[in-house]
Amino acid sequence: MRDSQSNTQAHSLALSVYTFYKFIKLSDDQVEILLPQIQSLGEEKNLEGLVIFGREGINATISGQGSALEAFMVELQKKLGTESLDIKISPTDFAPFKKFRVKIRDEIVSLGKPDIYPTSHNNHLSPEEWHRVMQEEDVILLDTRNWYETKIGKFSGAIDPKLSEFNKFPDYLKNSELPKDKKILIYCTGGIRCEKAIYEMQSQGFEKVFQLEGGILKYIEKFPNKKFDGECFVFDHRVAVDQELKPTQNYKMCPHCGQPSGEKLSCLKCDQDAWVCEECVKETHRQTCSKNCAYHYQREPLAKGRKQFQGHRFEVLKKRSQSKTQID
Ligand SMILES: [Zn+2]
Ligand SMILES: [Zn+2]
Repeated sequence: MRDSQSNTQAHSLALSVYTFYKFIKLSDDQVEILLPQIQSLGEEKNLEGLVIFGREGINATISGQGSALEAFMVELQKKLGTESLDIKISPTDFAPFKKFRVKIRDEIVSLGKPDIYPTSHNNHLSPEEWHRVMQEEDVILLDTRNWYETKIGKFSGAIDPKLSEFNKFPDYLKNSELPKDKKILIYCTGGIRCEKAIYEMQSQGFEKVFQLEGGILKYIEKFPNKKFDGECFVFDHRVAVDQELKPTQNYKMCPHCGQPSGEKLSCLKCDQDAWVCEECVKETHRQTCSKNCAYHYQREPLAKGRKQFQGHRFEVLKKRSQSKTQID
């Protein structure tokens, strides 16, 4: 285990982030055998990240040195007995996770429907096809992500269902007035949510649904600054990536709720920079740089406090990932 000092030094070099998923049917025995193997493989290669793993397959966002990631992928594909893992790659100058963790889940993306198992290609559009269809055909664009993701960027003209979580998507559809016979294009960050969403839509009678292969990340790679407006939220310490797939310069993670914040203010307690989201800023005690400053502000609003350790954003992320554990 490296200490945080050497960690920082190692990461002053350019790192890569690999995002990938694969639906593969695995038995409980296979999951049990592979889990510790994947965990040690990631640690061996000095990677960080989160791997969601289970009977449905694998869904991961991991980072490290390029050569280490490549070596990891070769080994992983051998273990999983698959050759075709589609990887979305983005650059970063810091590690977006602190550790390498493999977690077992019933679903590798949580729609609340483990019975939906995307087996084969189901109306995927490549970024090129998507780009063309979007401009040439009369279609409805539907974002399948959560409200705090869509608020910092989405495809122009897309409908935002304002989901709080992905598992609210089936109910949203039932109550929506989307026409069932019209061509609907759906998209998410890296494609995995749409793999399940499309089955749900088809089972609810939507006849012409198409999904963006590789999600926003693949689209931006091929078509930066075109039809996707803004930045793409990611479920890790980068908060979002810009049109060059680099970590955002415009948002930081709100220390109180973990959502992206684009506004900087001065902490009421310790005067340090505080990036607080537009919801939290409505509460005075949350006009603070950390949960700790918020707590002490509530107890003694008039007394100034000590400056907070800036690692608080990671702590927020950690707590949040423990409760939700979502990646895309
Ligand atoms: Zn907030
Ligand atoms: Zn503070």
